[in-house]
Parts: sequence; C-alpha cells; structure tokens
Amino acid sequence: MSEDYYSVLHVKKDASQDEIKNAYRELALKYHPDRNKDAGAEEKFKEINEAYAVLSDPEKRQQYDMYGSEAFHQRFSEQDIFRGFDINEIFRNFGIDFGDTDDIFQSFLGFQGQRGGRRVRQTGNDILAHMSISLEEAAKGAEKEASVRHIVACERCGGTGMEPGSRLLRCDKCNGSGQIRVTRRTPFGIMQTITTCDRCGGSGKIVETPCKECKGHGSVQKENKISVKIPKGIEDNTRLRLEGMGDFGRDGPGDLYIDINVQKDSRFERRGNDVYYTLEIPFYVAMLGDTAMVPTLYGEEKVKIEGGTQNGSVITLRGKGMPNMRRSGYGDEIVKIVVTVPKRLSKEQKELIERFMDGDSGKRGFFGVF
Ligand SMILES: [Zn+2]
Ligand SMILES: [Zn+2]
Repeated sequence: MSEDYYSVLHVKKDASQDEIKNAYRELALKYHPDRNKDAGAEEKFKEINEAYAVLSDPEKRQQYDMYGSEAFHQRFSEQDIFRGFDINEIFRNFGIDFGDTDDIFQSFLGFQGQRGGRRVRQTGNDILAHMSISLEEAAKGAEKEASVRHIVACERCGGTGMEPGSRLLRCDKCNGSGQIRVTRRTPFGIMQTITTCDRCGGSGKIVETPCKECKGHGSVQKENKISVKIPKGIEDNTRLRLEGMGDFGRDGPGDLYIDINVQKDSRFERRGNDVYYTLEIPFYVAMLGDTAMVPTLYGEEKVKIEGGTQNGSVITLRGKGMPNMRRSGYGDEIVKIVVTVPKRLSKEQKELIERFMDGDSGKRGFFGVF
C-alpha cells in the first residue's frame, strides 16, 4: 500500500488528468476482478483504484504531493481516500458497465457506495452462544430453545429510528451532502480534510422526531428464545450457524453461532458412532447364563447372556449407537461384560464353592504352586 501512486498507475509525477485517467482505465480493465481471476488481481485492482481515487482528485493529489506517500497515509484513512469516489460512475463514464461493483469494494473496504455520499455499511454483529445437550439428544436430534440476548429491530419504528408519522429532513450541518470539511492544525501546517458528517452519519438526512422507543437507534436489546434444531448424530464441540439470527443491522442482520457441547454420559462412552457400555454380571450368571436388561440410547434392551460367558467378552447391539451424520445408518452399542466376584462368602457359600472345586477334577491346588 505504501507504493507510490504514480508508479502504481505507471505515470510520471507531472502527468495530466487525461494521462492519469487513461492509465487508470487501461489498468482497471486489466485487473477488474470480473475479468481477471489471477491470484493477487483483486489486491492489484484495489491499489489501482486507491491511486486513482487520490490522483484524480486535485485536492487529494496536492496533499499527496506535498506530504509524500508515508505521511499521506498517516493522515488519511482508507475511507478518507475513497470518499466521493464512485467506481460505478467512473466505469459508466468510460462506457463500461460491470454491473454493481459495490460487492468488490465492500469486500476490501468494508463499506459501500450509497447515493448521496458514502456511508459505513451497518451489518449486524454475529453473536456466539453456547448450548449443552445430552448424548441422547445428540443421538435422536432435538429441537431446543436457546436464550439469546441480541439486538433486534425496534418494533415501534420498524428499525428506521423515526417516530411514526415523523419526516426526514435535510441535515443542516452538511447541507445534505453527508460530508463536512474539518480544518486541523498539524505539524505540516493547517490541513483541511473532508470527513463524514457526524450529525447525520453521512446519510445527509436527519430524523425530525426520533423514535420514542429506541431513541432513534432503530434497534433495541432483547432477550429472545430461539429455537435450535440439533441434527441427529452431532458431535461434541460442533458450531451451528443460524443465518440472520445475530444482531440487527440496517443493512442486514448478523448470524448466530451456537457451540454445542455434548455432555459426558454416565453410562455410555462414545467412540465415533459406537457407544460402549459396561455390564457387570455375577460370576454364576456368567457360568449358567441368563438374560439382562441393558440401557441403550433408545430405551432398554433385553440381552441374552450365554452360559460360560468370559470376563471381558463383548456383546454387540447392532444399530444401537449414534446415527452416522455423513452416511445413513447407525453405529453399534458394544456391551462389555465384567464378571463380578463376591468379596465375602458365608460359610455355606464357601462350602458350595469348595464342593464345586472338588467336582472340577484335578483343578484343586492348581493355584497352590504360586
Ligand atoms: Zn450531515
Ligand atoms: Zn424505534
């Protein structure tokens, strides 16, 4: 950006307005983002326009020549440089119509041309909210309510900031131009700059009677309940975007982002689309077999335990895991069997076990070697 404007346009320091205009025309056509998709073309296009915005304006050019590139940039913001510069009008005067170029400008300048002067584009802010959901909600999907404090359009004035029945008057400070001249004393001497009118904000108009509800802001802060659709199978730490649900802005609302936290479940451990559940069974059930009720994300499930089930073995419940977000179908629930052994035995129980051991021929004393 600190490159000399004259070299950007390939013209000499004493170039006439016509020479500058022709140089600009040629380069602007070459680098216009609609025509030139090369990397860096847009940046180059911006440079060319910036150079032309200054050098085509006798007053800005004079200040640029006087202070030099660096000091000029310290004094003038991008908005100052582009104020009053209407690229669409310039192209139309060249007999070229690219359509609405505002989008391009907006993307690199953050503001937009308006009839009757430029003003800062007012898009509402994006806002971020958090929501915590259970693993079951993540599995089945849910419709949840989020309480969001955001800026909404004032209902009384519909976002205009005007009291109903009131009129728009021409701004008396800038006479409707949206711009005012400010004279400042600087180390370089007295300088005159043109800035956005602070009374009308650059629109050139002021409201006769501001809205009583929002005091002319056009917006009010409000706590709203917003319905959030949680997609099935959502993963922890997913950010959902609700378009247009952010803060109100005169040029369109911002978006609402919601960070979803899926709570840890006391029963299930999620690994991808599968969930793991630990089922404890007493040793005699492991030996003799039985049925057990096992919780799943979708209700209880009756599970058959085979006689002779080993500790650490698994039973897979097909399709009882998390829904697959990308493909159709579901993961599984993996039931891990943990065989429990009583810590204390009654005298009778001990005798029974001893009899069992005697029956298990040859095994008695097996562990005695240790
Ligand atoms: Zn004004
Ligand atoms: Zn209002």
